Amino acid sequence: MSDLQAILDSIHTELLPRLGEGKVADYIPELAKVDPNQFGMAIATVDGNVRSVGDADIPFSIQSISKVFMLTLALGKVGESLWKRVGREPSGTAFNSIVQLEREEGIPRNPFINAGAIAVSDIVLSGHAPREAIGELLRFVRYVADDESITIDDKVARSETQTGFRNIALANFMRAYGNLDHPVEHVLGVYFHQCALSMTCEQLAKAGLYLAARGTNPITGHSVVSPKRARRINALMLTCGHYDGSGDFAYHVGLPGKSGVGGGILAVAPGIGSIAVWSPGLNKVGNSQLGAVALEMLAARTGWSVFGD
Ligand code: GLU
Repeated sequence: MSDLQAILDSIHTELLPRLGEGKVADYIPELAKVDPNQFGMAIATVDGNVRSVGDADIPFSIQSISKVFMLTLALGKVGESLWKRVGREPSGTAFNSIVQLEREEGIPRNPFINAGAIAVSDIVLSGHAPREAIGELLRFVRYVADDESITIDDKVARSETQTGFRNIALANFMRAYGNLDHPVEHVLGVYFHQCALSMTCEQLAKAGLYLAARGTNPITGHSVVSPKRARRINALMLTCGHYDGSGDFAYHVGLPGKSGVGGGILAVAPGIGSIAVWSPGLNKVGNSQLGAVALEMLAARTGWSVFGD
C-alpha cells in the first residue's frame, strides 16, 4: 500500500486542468461564495495511516455527509424501530423532492434524502433541547474523528435557515402526517446545524474509519457500532448515498458513499479504509463532479470496488 500516496498524487495531477468543473451550490447563499477551484482528497486506512493530497486540510461544509453520522446516532438511540419512520429504498428522485413524500404519506424513502434526514434529526432531538442535540452530534463527530478542533460553521447554518424553504415544506409535510414529534423550527434548527459541520478531508476520512473497520475506529480503538450496524450503514450508503445518482456512483466507483452539496464525498472501502474527497463544483444531481471522477480513478487504480477488482 506504499504506492497509495503516488496514486493520490497522480489523481490530483490529472485533475488539475479540470478544476472548476461543475456548478457550486448556490441555493444556500453562503455556499455560493466558495472558490470552485479547490480539490482535496484524503485516505485513512485501517492500519491507522492517513494520506492526503491538495486542499485536504481546508475545512468545507460537509452538508449531507452529516446524515451518516446522525443516522449512526439515531440508530444508537432507538435501534431498528427507526425504520418505522424512514424507509431503506433508493428514492430515484431529487434530494429535496416533495412529491414523493406526499405520495408515500410522510414516510421518506431513506435516511439520506432531506426528508429522511429531517426525520432522523427529530429522533436525535428526542429528550433534548435543539442546542443539546447539536452538541451531541458535534461531540460524536469529534469522537469518531479523534479531533476536538471540528466545529460548526454558524454562518452556513444561518444562511440555510434563512433560505431553506423546501426543507421547511418537507418538515411541515411530515409533521402533518405525524412523522415529526417536535416543532418544525426545532427539528430544522438541528438539521441545518448538522449540515453546517465544517471538516477537512483528513478529518472526514478519519471520521468514516469506523465504517471501514467493522464498527471500531482502529486508530483510537473506540467501538462505535457493531459490525452488523456498520455493514448496514454501508449498504444504505451504497444504495442511497448519492440521491438519484446512486446507481451511477455504484456503477462507476463501486463503493458505499455519501455526498454533500458542499462538494464533499465520503466513501468507504470495507476492510481497507475511508476516503474523503472535496471539490465544490456539483453535477446535475447535486453530487461533486470531480469528487466522483477522483473516486472512480482511485477505485480503478486500487481495485477497491466492493464488486471486485
Ligand atoms: N443542507 C442541504 C439541504 O438541506 C443538504 C443537501 C445536500 O448536501 O445534499 O438542502
